[in-house]
Amino acid sequence: MAQSIPELYGSLVFNDKIMREKLPKDMYKALKKTIENGTHLELDVANSVAVAMKEWALEHGATHYTHWFQPMTNFTAEKHDSFISPTVDGQVIMDFSGKELVKGEPDASSFPSGGLRATFEARGYTAWDPTSPAFIKDRTLYIPTAFCSYSGEALDKKTPLLRSMDTLNKEAVKVLRLLGNTEVKHINTTVGPEQEYFLVDKDLYNKRKDLIFCGRTLIGAPAPKGQEMEDHYFGTLKPRVSAYMHDLDEELWKLGIPAKTKHNEVAPAQHELAPVFDTTNVAVDHNQLTMEIMKKVAAKHNMVCLLHEKPFEGINGSGKHNNWSMSTDTGVNLLDPGKTPAENAQFLLFLTAVIKAVNDYQDILRASVASAGNDHRLGANEAPPAIISIFLGDELTGVLDAIVNGVKYEDKRVEMEIGVDVLPHFPKDTTDRNRTSPFAFTGNKFEFRMPGSKLSVAGPNTVLNTIVADVLDQFADELEKADNFQDALDDLIKRTIKENQNIIFNGNGYSDEWPVEAEKRGLLNLKSTPEAVPTFLAQKNVDVFSKYGVYTEAELQSRVEILLDEYCKTLNIEALTMIDMAKKEILPAAAKYIKDIAKTAELAKSCGAETVFEEETVKEISALVTEMYKALGTLEADVQKVHSIEDTQEMANFFHDTIFADMGALRVPADKIETLVGKDYWPYPTYSDLLFYVK
Ligand code: ADP
Ligand code: MG
Repeated sequence: MAQSIPELYGSLVFNDKIMREKLPKDMYKALKKTIENGTHLELDVANSVAVAMKEWALEHGATHYTHWFQPMTNFTAEKHDSFISPTVDGQVIMDFSGKELVKGEPDASSFPSGGLRATFEARGYTAWDPTSPAFIKDRTLYIPTAFCSYSGEALDKKTPLLRSMDTLNKEAVKVLRLLGNTEVKHINTTVGPEQEYFLVDKDLYNKRKDLIFCGRTLIGAPAPKGQEMEDHYFGTLKPRVSAYMHDLDEELWKLGIPAKTKHNEVAPAQHELAPVFDTTNVAVDHNQLTMEIMKKVAAKHNMVCLLHEKPFEGINGSGKHNNWSMSTDTGVNLLDPGKTPAENAQFLLFLTAVIKAVNDYQDILRASVASAGNDHRLGANEAPPAIISIFLGDELTGVLDAIVNGVKYEDKRVEMEIGVDVLPHFPKDTTDRNRTSPFAFTGNKFEFRMPGSKLSVAGPNTVLNTIVADVLDQFADELEKADNFQDALDDLIKRTIKENQNIIFNGNGYSDEWPVEAEKRGLLNLKSTPEAVPTFLAQKNVDVFSKYGVYTEAELQSRVEILLDEYCKTLNIEALTMIDMAKKEILPAAAKYIKDIAKTAELAKSCGAETVFEEETVKEISALVTEMYKALGTLEADVQKVHSIEDTQEMANFFHDTIFADMGALRVPADKIETLVGKDYWPYPTYSDLLFYVK
């Protein structure tokens, strides 16, 4: 009989239930304490957990284990070791120790380190993250780990994320204590990432080098139909897509990933999956796994899942909406407006802390989502713009205005004095109407909509946690010194709202007026990756990360180096792919068509027929071929120039200003040629084929 969903759910996860069953009581308690409070784990506990994990893994057919980690790319890494341990009599036993569970030593030399490894120890080690559950995939036990150098520098995305969660926990608890809360012991940030993706047919995909090498189409004329009919969003799922989604859900559920919502997105062939939110580091691990499983399941259905931010020009790109909040171990969401006066003050304090943090650190929040792929969305006529602003909705904005002005908020019961009266509750539908805002309050959480679809959300959440912690720290300092706490709180909230009104924008972020208005307000507009990324190294940003030990200056430098390097490499691959396609496929296809048409013309002429079509077509395509050939020459020459640039920032600028522009110029005639040559001559599946083929 088929398993029921509750039986299936988490069946491949070493979860709390299994731990309780398999571990001696005292060991279970010690492990829980580590997981919940981040306390140190003793070796005897680790040994006990290792035995239980191994037994469970073997029962599920596992033969290997791996320390699973997240190097400074958007991917995860793993090296598998089998459990076998030879015995003297030539047999093997299946063995796994606490030491092996807690620490691994992968050869780290091939992962990007952004110069960290030159200055520090060459080797790295992985350390078990007991707060994210182990799981089984492909007959291997996966142990989530952090990846560091021997001298402790973070070589991954998880370590800074965990540090930032810890920092926010400390500062938020401090603020709650000042507000008179003595119960809360721990605060976690929570994340629910909504994942967008495209599905295309695999046989068609395999005919396009650009999709294979770059994950996006580098050329392609628009299909006669795009997304203008608005018939795809929430539309009926086609059978093949529906079957895929069912399979995907099941695979995710087995791994304890709470996939919840699925639907068609705005663009044809575009879809979305949203899980139920979880503690940030677990949500990040799960999102990494989700992306991997999405691709694997697609392959089974003879499709390819495209996670690129902009696979098709003129069609909406894909993002990852990062829903974020803070929640206490007593089960209170700190961004929930609450029902009592005390909760209101708390809500307003945490809300204004987020607003101020986003305003003070617009630059690094923007930088945390910068990538070559995402440049096609942010600031490129696509949702959302590159300018960071906050959407609060009219109601909440009205409340904040009333507080600043010391007046009643219409007939609602908001008094000037904070915490004395009760705030209106903001239903989701009054706060979630604006889809153009990069950072929107949606009832009881913020939704950061800038991350690209294939980005690991570890980075943006590391930044969010740290900057909010910093503001909470500043708030605590001020409140600690107060003679009259209530007055000080009142003043702090009012002042913070007033000083940060410039970042609040409830209007249309796509309008032409907004960038002009935003500039007047002093908001940053960092349009591209080479522009955004270096802001990590501005003094105030180095200071905030090092103050809380989230990134050292060297760790930040390494990340900037890696991000810019990755940007350059991506554009280089795109440029080379485009050159290859133009030379080997597009120009020859055009030439062949011209030749055949010319032959037809000859034949027509020999029997005295008219040859207008043939002549016009030959002329038109020949002109485009010439234009393309020239643009190709320019691109090729400029790609050569890259080799003489040594500085990474300069190289990134060159790729952005010159190579990217060259590619645009080459695309124009290529796309026109596509519309002129016969279908059988064109070497690629078209946008029509790719976007409307999957039924
Ligand atoms: P939508 O944004 O499409 O209206 P929802 O509000 O239901 O949808 O939620 C979107 C995502 O936000 C889901 O992944 C959900 O689990 C997540 N989410 C809801 N509450 C929180 C929270 N307190 N913290 C983080 N994420 C949350
Ligand atoms: Mg949403």
